[in-house]
Amino acid sequence: MDNKKYVYLFSEGNASMRNLLGGKGANLAEMTNLGIPVPKGFTVSTEACNKYYDDGKMISKEIMTEVEEKMVQLEEITGMKFGSLDNPLLVSVRSGARVSMPGMMDTILNLGLNDETVEVVAKKTNNPRFAYDSYRRFIQMFSDVVMGVEKRLFEKLIDEAKERKGVQYDTELDCNDLKELVLKFKELYKKEMGENFPQDAKTQLIDAITAVFRSWDNPRAIVYRRLNDIPGNWGTAVNVQQMVFGNKGDTSGTGVAFSRNPSTGEKKLFAEYLMNAQGEDVVAGIRTPQPISKLKDDMPEIYDQFVKIVDKLEKHYKDMQDMEFTIEEGKLYFLQTRNGKRTAQAALKIAVDLVAEGMLTKEEAILKVEPKQLDSLLHPTFNAKELKSAEVIAKGLPASPGAACGKIAFTAEEAKERSDAGEDVVLVRLETSPEDIEGMIAAEGILTVRGGMTSHAAVVARGMGACCVAGCGDIKVNEETKTMSVNGKVYGCEDYISLDGNTGNVYGQAISPEEPQISGEFATFMSWADEIRALKVRTNADSPRDARQAVKFGAEGIGLCRTEHMFFAEDRISAVREMIVAKNVEERKKALEKLLPMQREDFIGIYEAMEERPVTIRLLDPPLHEFLPHDDEDIRDLAKEMGLTFEDLKNTVESLHEFNPMMGHRGCRLAVSYPEIAEMQVRAIIEAAICVKEKCSYNIIPEIMIPLVGEVKELKFVKDIAVKVADEIIKEKGTDMKYLIGTMIEIPRAALTADEIAKEAEFFSFGTNDLTQMTFGFSRDDAGKFLNDYYERKIYESDPFSKLDQNGVGKLVEMAAVKGRSTRPNIKLGICGEHGGDPSSVEFCHNIGLNYVSCSPFRVPVARLAAAQAQVKNKR
Ligand code: PEP
Ligand code: MG
Repeated sequence: MDNKKYVYLFSEGNASMRNLLGGKGANLAEMTNLGIPVPKGFTVSTEACNKYYDDGKMISKEIMTEVEEKMVQLEEITGMKFGSLDNPLLVSVRSGARVSMPGMMDTILNLGLNDETVEVVAKKTNNPRFAYDSYRRFIQMFSDVVMGVEKRLFEKLIDEAKERKGVQYDTELDCNDLKELVLKFKELYKKEMGENFPQDAKTQLIDAITAVFRSWDNPRAIVYRRLNDIPGNWGTAVNVQQMVFGNKGDTSGTGVAFSRNPSTGEKKLFAEYLMNAQGEDVVAGIRTPQPISKLKDDMPEIYDQFVKIVDKLEKHYKDMQDMEFTIEEGKLYFLQTRNGKRTAQAALKIAVDLVAEGMLTKEEAILKVEPKQLDSLLHPTFNAKELKSAEVIAKGLPASPGAACGKIAFTAEEAKERSDAGEDVVLVRLETSPEDIEGMIAAEGILTVRGGMTSHAAVVARGMGACCVAGCGDIKVNEETKTMSVNGKVYGCEDYISLDGNTGNVYGQAISPEEPQISGEFATFMSWADEIRALKVRTNADSPRDARQAVKFGAEGIGLCRTEHMFFAEDRISAVREMIVAKNVEERKKALEKLLPMQREDFIGIYEAMEERPVTIRLLDPPLHEFLPHDDEDIRDLAKEMGLTFEDLKNTVESLHEFNPMMGHRGCRLAVSYPEIAEMQVRAIIEAAICVKEKCSYNIIPEIMIPLVGEVKELKFVKDIAVKVADEIIKEKGTDMKYLIGTMIEIPRAALTADEIAKEAEFFSFGTNDLTQMTFGFSRDDAGKFLNDYYERKIYESDPFSKLDQNGVGKLVEMAAVKGRSTRPNIKLGICGEHGGDPSSVEFCHNIGLNYVSCSPFRVPVARLAAAQAQVKNKR
């Protein structure tokens, strides 16, 4: 017995208890305290979920007892009795993690119904149709969610019932039809499960709570967590809440509301509802909901009360709210509120507006936008010219902005497969469900036939920043033949379509997506991020074009220029190859002489693009075999072209062969063997810097970076070469240019001996790609093949190559930073591995006091915002 409390009445909690009660539970508690009409209930905590897993997927006795005790209290509060024939209490059982994971976990409604209570409910409400409709829904949800009986089998029975009757909608089935359906459902249950549908309410409840705990670890929840950086040990809470019914007839209904428009951010209530329906009908997008303006006409008093509560909640939470509500026979209830998911445009507009409205400070506003969301702002719109002549074949709801173009895929698996194989695909579905998540991630865009702006497809796509058009009823999809038809024209898997997520337009052809334009709010918001952050943000760029793009996105310098990328250019690869096949230093120098002017031009372009911003240029890094062909035919062709014999070139290729090139002859090791390569590159760097300095009067201080160092003497060897060349040129030209020489820390030994290395290095840049590879002993190129097994078996939660492993690799980084500063207190420290653009890794870099992060141009805004958020959360 651990004497811990695991279950809380709503009246015992508040919004600050989110970690314990989950987001939904904490907010239900808060709304209860605010006096908002919330159906009564209690929350089984996230700690109970963790205990369930710790106890080997078992709900312990003490938790069961606590649930029973709370149930008794709930009965007292509501004046109803759970499982009794006298005024039976029915409840919903819903998951609620710390952060909302829409549709990822499970919900069960109408729990407590059985063959007897259904009759009581029928009599009490004088509405037997309602009672049996609720019962058939409960059997269906319980069977699916708790017992794993496929939903499809129940849907089939419903379809058959409608067919027999010759009707189109569920609502056209009468009480007798539903009674019969209940019998059929129970038969199906018995057939699938080998036992009767459980009649005991307490058993139903414990089974349902267990199912919600279990759903925390279902495959789609695991994928969602990985995508959204949600740790597996957070667990989910379970909310048990008195049922209120939106399907009791024409004065009942249910809906979803956003206090501001979640697509545009416009300050205008955005809500949809359905009369005579339960929540799942709205979210599943099976019937198309009404706009809230209609409620104003139909039930003006309820509408007024509704608007007042929405306003109160927004002011209270100081953020746009996403709410679920139900009207039961003319009485309004709020079932949920949370900070609403929104598009990146909406997030920026809302953040900027809330500051203008005096609701938030700039620091608070900075935390309101997910850094990764900014990605979608930087994503394409359609080429205007092509768009002009393109024909709109159908129109749906503009569910999530952006522009997408690809061939059609009709299932999520197919979308993933074809996209993995390099094809651009658009996923077309009747409606999406959470199982489709991987296909939705892989697709360029998502088109659904059914569903409103709050449907699964819409909510998930907005969260991911993916383009989505939903509820496009003009299209007929035949999932069996894998075709869709619009106005008589048929489209198949080989046909292109294009989606405009801003207008909802669907085009039956390919239209090229183009770079986006950035809005005024973006600039305002990002200027606040820049005022706040302590960490500088540089970019990894290898060309003047990338450099200019990055500067537009706010890069403050180049943290990594990989010179090898220039070597692959068509006009220089032959000189590079001459250098590689050279038989002696003289020959090599001759080839390098050809490369020198080209490299100098590269660097001139980059210095000009960056103006006076710092630029770190790395000496050649990859193993030389990468520049040569490998199969005999290509070797033969190249030999001919270079005037060599096949055997000669083949010998060179073989001599360069390595079993593990990533740990082979690369990085500074090349300069140790072939100092002339480093000499040429340093010459190009310094001459280019002097040239641009004189031409543009910029104060340029070149930063020369030596890669893959593991031993200080190795660094010193290459550094001496660089210093000699640089000083000679500076002297020759009679100028006084300063320059820095530093190194990458990307080999564990460099991190371990960073104090020694810092004596020779004026800056460190953490190459966390290689450092991760070498610390884990995972090949950068091959790990992807088996990491999925690690996620499935819950050994790792995320890809250590995209999110820094703070416990392992991070320790090396932190230690090296401390050691480096111990021998060179003002050493400049940065990171240039892929992690430099990952928000949680950026936060880590801020916390350990690095000076800058460096990432690809399109991730620069993400890093700027992540750095500002890190400063707000943890001032330095
Ligand atoms: C690194 O290793 O982190 C790095 C930035 O260098 P590269 O990816 O070029 O090996
Ligand atoms: Mg590297």
